Amino acid sequence: MSSVPTDSLTDIQASNRDLATTNGAVAGTASSPKASHKKGRRRTGHLKDVPESRELREKIRDYCRTLASRLDRSSALSKDELETVSRRALEELQQPEAYLGWTMVVLSSEYWREQVSTIPPERRLLLLPHCLKHAEGCPADYDQFGLDCKKCGACSIADFREQAEKLGYKVLVAEGSPIVLKIIISGYVDAVVGVACLNVLEKSIDKVLLAGIPCMAVPLLSSDCRNTSVDEDWVYEMIHVREEADSARTPSYLHLLRSAKNLFEPSELERLVPKIRKKTQRSKLASDSGSPFADPIGATESLAHEFLAKGGKYARPFITLAAYDAMTGANGVSSGGEQYLAKIPDAVRRVALSIETFHKASLVHDDIEDDDDFRYGEPTLHRTYGVPTAVNVGDYMIGMGYRLVSRDAASLGTEAANEVLDRLADAHLRLSEGQGAELLWRDASDKQLAPIDALKIYALKTAPAFEAALLCGMRCAGPLGERETPLKLFAKHLGIAFQILNDLKDWQGDQDNKLSAGLDTLGGRPTVLWALAIEGLEGEKREELCRLTDSGEEPSVILAQAKQLYQTAGVFEKANLLVDKYQERAERIADEIDPESLRRLLYYLVDTVLDRPTVIESQLLTPTLPV
Ligand code: SF4
Repeated sequence: MSSVPTDSLTDIQASNRDLATTNGAVAGTASSPKASHKKGRRRTGHLKDVPESRELREKIRDYCRTLASRLDRSSALSKDELETVSRRALEELQQPEAYLGWTMVVLSSEYWREQVSTIPPERRLLLLPHCLKHAEGCPADYDQFGLDCKKCGACSIADFREQAEKLGYKVLVAEGSPIVLKIIISGYVDAVVGVACLNVLEKSIDKVLLAGIPCMAVPLLSSDCRNTSVDEDWVYEMIHVREEADSARTPSYLHLLRSAKNLFEPSELERLVPKIRKKTQRSKLASDSGSPFADPIGATESLAHEFLAKGGKYARPFITLAAYDAMTGANGVSSGGEQYLAKIPDAVRRVALSIETFHKASLVHDDIEDDDDFRYGEPTLHRTYGVPTAVNVGDYMIGMGYRLVSRDAASLGTEAANEVLDRLADAHLRLSEGQGAELLWRDASDKQLAPIDALKIYALKTAPAFEAALLCGMRCAGPLGERETPLKLFAKHLGIAFQILNDLKDWQGDQDNKLSAGLDTLGGRPTVLWALAIEGLEGEKREELCRLTDSGEEPSVILAQAKQLYQTAGVFEKANLLVDKYQERAERIADEIDPESLRRLLYYLVDTVLDRPTVIESQLLTPTLPV
């Protein structure tokens, strides 16, 4: 077996290490200290072959194991670095580029092997693909967590599950990272081991690497989705990997993600924001009279607390806590971060809570203005309690957001508290201006819209929340100084790119949250996609688009026609290029920011907030319209 050339390896990481001074070298943070300015998703189908022979697979894996033992654990191995090192490995082994995807998974697993091995099996999740099941004879049904295997023994899932459960693993026969990330951030597990095809692993590897979660995987031998197979002994060996001795953990944002989510656990919410109207209990009797509350005075507070704890990714409070941590030594991302995070002052936690409270208030009002049916997979507040009550709960949460900061002026320091309040008020005003402009356009008969006008609305509607979350978190740690202006621009570019991505994702819908595809178009929202179509179409085609939303046609017909017109105008490609442009602008600003712990947080935000769905292009080309 050709030996691993040490020089190439060190080059790759040296560029990393030189800049990685403090423990800011954080796994799960964005790639090397200088962003790679990578463009949107590229086509990767030709990089996902599985080496045919077992002998060749073992040769590559052994090589990767040696390679991985030399990789630096104190700084994150990003997807770009993983690809660079894997390409070098294939060159050294004189193997085709077609094995790149497979080699990246094997190398990443070897990189995390030691850290997975030190995590007790009862804190691990085993993820198995349902395509391993016996397609013709499997008696199992599906529940909300995936395939509920009956262990009939007709396929290897039963054995894998049996052995893992004996060791204490949590086992899921499911795919798709959303449920996995939820389980990890909720704190049930600290490591993931899994079996999946390269397509699924490609989608999830990003998120696992970014979150810095110890993870190992064995790729399936094909991506056929039926009766697939795997190197079973590799799976057993992975399930049983175990080291008694503890090993240094690659720093990660996992603890901060969990801390942000824990702020909204009912008991923690009650500790940080104790209800004033203690005695407000739901009473069945009262609900018969239409009011769900025995004491209407306390009802609004209860509904506000309930909605705060209801759902969401809690990205904004995470940004606030992570910004504070980045400016106070970044101990929260280092191994043992949870002990440090326990020391974050409650006043800072309340600032993070306040950011989310404003966000949730805007969602309640937004759902009314857009007459939406569902939020977080449940009926919207105004669908349940009526518009007047919902408007009022939204207003209450705004007041709550300000009081969460004003009441802690003493611990934050008066100057800091005033500045945080001013930033919250400023963000609130700009958001309302953006929302106002959107509503006026939506209700106007003239459907002309220039892309620049749509982007202005985004800069007002979406960017201020990122700006407030970031700068308020930093201000709790100290004055912003010269960082303020570039960081405001960073938040603007990030917010605009995020909103454009949201518009693109709207064409996919979101089953988890009961949101069907194309709601923006059907709801007449002024998106940059619409503006690009108006700009890209001429004469009759443009008129046809402007008439569409008031045509009285079936929603599926309207969406089919809109999609045809959008494709004619090259809207989806142009929108993706716009996301690239704003992402690059945000990364360029991040390149110049210090300290390094803050720069890494900015890269992490770019990589996670601007998470591009891989399949958008293919679905756009073969529209799956709601019937
Ligand atoms: S072992 Fe489980 S997954 Fe496999 S065929 Fe039987 S019931 Fe289905």
